[in-house]
Amino acid sequence: AKSAGGNRYELADPEADARAITRHGLTTALPAALDRGEFFIEYQPLVHLGDGSVRGAEALVRWLHPQHGVLGPDRFIPLAEHTGLIVPLGRWVLEESVRQACVWQDRHEDAGPLRINVNLSPKQLTHPGLVSDTVDILERSGLEPGALCLEVTESALIGADDDLLKPLRRLSEMGVDIALDDFGTGYSNLANLRRLPVNVLKLDRSFTQGMQQFPADPVDLKIVEGIVSLAHSLDLAVTVEGVETGAQAEQLRELGCDTAQGWYYARPGPPDRLHELALADATG
Ligand code: C2E
Ligand code: CA
Ligand code: CA
Ligand code: CA
Repeated sequence: AKSAGGNRYELADPEADARAITRHGLTTALPAALDRGEFFIEYQPLVHLGDGSVRGAEALVRWLHPQHGVLGPDRFIPLAEHTGLIVPLGRWVLEESVRQACVWQDRHEDAGPLRINVNLSPKQLTHPGLVSDTVDILERSGLEPGALCLEVTESALIGADDDLLKPLRRLSEMGVDIALDDFGTGYSNLANLRRLPVNVLKLDRSFTQGMQQFPADPVDLKIVEGIVSLAHSLDLAVTVEGVETGAQAEQLRELGCDTAQGWYYARPGPPDRLHELALADATG
């Protein structure tokens, strides 16, 4: 900012400007990007803490932008959410990852069924086609509903009324798992959990981060222990995100968590990588 002759004016922050242009540019480029097939999915394994076996994967979308290279979802999901493009984009992610899950199932008959977790954004939740699109995709692919888990963030369900929960309840009744994602970041009323049609809690990465120092903060451990016991008493399975070290994995296993996900096991990667990990694990 510069002050001249009493006329105060501010220089635009060039970086903020670049960000704004990019935001705008990205937003307008989104629909064509979907048509041109510039999105792709990486898969990150979900590992059973008890025996270390790969049980499935979470689908994480990326955008191979012709000028900017690979963009992570944090760069464009909020924009797609804002414009509504998230509905067709989310449908594509679901269809593509369900198709991929069928490929794994065919190649893995003896390794046990691999599950697929797909993120749902708030706008998809309120979209009237959610249930019919999902049923349609499952039926056309032949994937059993029990192999699909839809992840919904805690914040999307805070204060949710019955209209919002109805589609999730329908999907849940069909056998689709519903996970409460980023659990612990909102301030959800724990008692409220009973009302929600969820059967998996995904403990947010902030909890695992708190356990990174050694020895871990005893208060953090108590909190995780409390959440796990509450979840189990409500028949919810607990998945932990952001596991980066073997020590964390061991501690989380001792605390009773069921499934883990994180760089310690594998970074998100192409579908064949998941296949290899699951196979290595099944053969020894
Ligand atoms: P999320 O659902 O919480 O996904 C987990 C994020 O944590 C992913 O980031 C993953 O790459 C990252 N992660 C996994 N393990 C570790 C670890 O050990 N350490 C650290 N530091 N990070 C780890 P990513 O892929 O950038 O995705 C960010 C968010 O974008 C996701 O958070 C999810 O909310 C959203 N997202 C991704 N794909 C989709 C999608 O298809 N639809 C919607 N609506 N949202 C999506
Ligand atoms: Ca997720
Ligand atoms: Ca999460
Ligand atoms: Ca998260």
